[in-house]
Amino acid sequence: METTFSKSNQVVIQNFINGEWVSSESGQVENVPNPATGEIIASVPISSKEDVNKAVQSARQAFKDWKKTPVPKRARIMFKYQQLLTENRDELAKVLTQENGKTKKDATGEVQRGIECVEFAAGAPSLMMGDVLPDIAEGIDSGMYRYPVGVVGGITPFNFPMMVPLWMFPLALVCGNTFVLKPSERTPILAKMLVELMHEAGLPKGVLNLVNGAHDVVNGLLEHEEIDAISFVGSQPVAEYVYKTAANHGKRVQALAGAKNHSLVLPDCNLDKSVEGIVNAAFGSAGERCMACSVVVAVGEVADPLVAKLKEAADQLNVGDGLAEETNLGPLIRESHRDRVLGYIEAGEEENAKLVRDGRVELRENESGYFLGATIFDYVTEDMKIWKDEIFAPVLSIVRAETLDEAIETANKSEFANGAVIYTSSGKAVQQFREEMDAGMLGVNVNVPAPMAFFPFSGNKKSFYGDLHANGKDGLNFYTKRKMLTQRWY
Ligand code: NAD
Repeated sequence: METTFSKSNQVVIQNFINGEWVSSESGQVENVPNPATGEIIASVPISSKEDVNKAVQSARQAFKDWKKTPVPKRARIMFKYQQLLTENRDELAKVLTQENGKTKKDATGEVQRGIECVEFAAGAPSLMMGDVLPDIAEGIDSGMYRYPVGVVGGITPFNFPMMVPLWMFPLALVCGNTFVLKPSERTPILAKMLVELMHEAGLPKGVLNLVNGAHDVVNGLLEHEEIDAISFVGSQPVAEYVYKTAANHGKRVQALAGAKNHSLVLPDCNLDKSVEGIVNAAFGSAGERCMACSVVVAVGEVADPLVAKLKEAADQLNVGDGLAEETNLGPLIRESHRDRVLGYIEAGEEENAKLVRDGRVELRENESGYFLGATIFDYVTEDMKIWKDEIFAPVLSIVRAETLDEAIETANKSEFANGAVIYTSSGKAVQQFREEMDAGMLGVNVNVPAPMAFFPFSGNKKSFYGDLHANGKDGLNFYTKRKMLTQRWY
């Protein structure tokens, strides 16, 4: 698989419906720039509800045979898919950097995380097993059987164009569902490659369909009566909208949303290791991660040395094109997003947070990439906009607290509850953190505590809408419905 980009050779993205690449009915397209250079590398269709309708009809038709395809046969296609993704690892990572901006190292890590989702899905014969209990009463057996839900719609964000679609369709498909994927219009190239390789692995036509576009496609999926379930990952307002609208249309829905993750740093931590972890978590992938560390709560006397070391480490980061070996901090996804982030930096200054490091020095206004350097604010308080909102950028806020109680109380005041980390050498502090911190994914001396594919990826509060999370047994339960059979034979 080779995907090359140059001005004369842009990738033309199409929709994939019923096993064929087709143009959108709408005729509308949007340009896709490489965020590091501004160069247009692809054009993506902004499809209509009519395109959605065709994809859903194709998925509904394919469901008839696919749901009856034996589970080991479905799993075997995933084994082949895993092999193809692994063979194309470098190309996938390169394209990921070119369309998303993240560094080669981050892109390679994401590709690996995506492959692990396929490996989990390939275990479907064991996952799909039900439970049976003979003789629940005299001569009566009882058992639970799993079946696919039907046609699933998946809507994904720009920040993990490989991993997030792979959270969804491999598991959904291996459970016997058919699928319509709507990737972010800002990162459509990876989605195209993922769909191509899935079919090379032997997936029958119509089982996985791809419809590119924006809100019209999303609404088309949410409202379509032939869609049974919706998996969504994206920002909080859209997640809430998707959850309510899909539920209103009688669908099963999981909607993973935004975040504002706090890292609590105690005086008894290993300071150098903690700084290394925080810098990676705050500025890795340019802060465009739902598990990014966006707030540090420095407890007691650790604050001054911590802030000094964070600044020193942030000063060492090389800002640039993610394809260059020496780059540690790539561009933001779009100029409009960077402008929004600049607004937050101004708001932080106006609210009198102390600007310890100003990433605007790395703006490079004479270059066309959407760069911004690592930015650190100290003395941030809970009334400030920069503490409340998800900024989704390399902007780190530091809040100072006297005690662990106070630090946990601050972190728990956020309306988001995706992840939280504690840096300490105290088991007692860890116990308190585990019991009292209301976030779905906790870490102890681990910079980004994102669970692997066999565990659920779980946020609380406004970071998640629904009940069953992505991945792990939650993912399995989301993509299957259960039947209970109680039987007596005379
Ligand atoms: P986004 O909400 O802008 O877009 C997500 C998807 O929704 C895209 O496919 C987009 O086309 C669609 N969309 C956007 N606006 C819409 C609207 N008004 N109506 C209907 N559909 C719409 O999110 P993004 O900027 O692509 O991704 C970043 C966000 O995703 C961040 O908030 C991040 O925290 C979140 N995220 C969360 C997780 C998690 O596991 N909780 C994982 C990754 C990303």
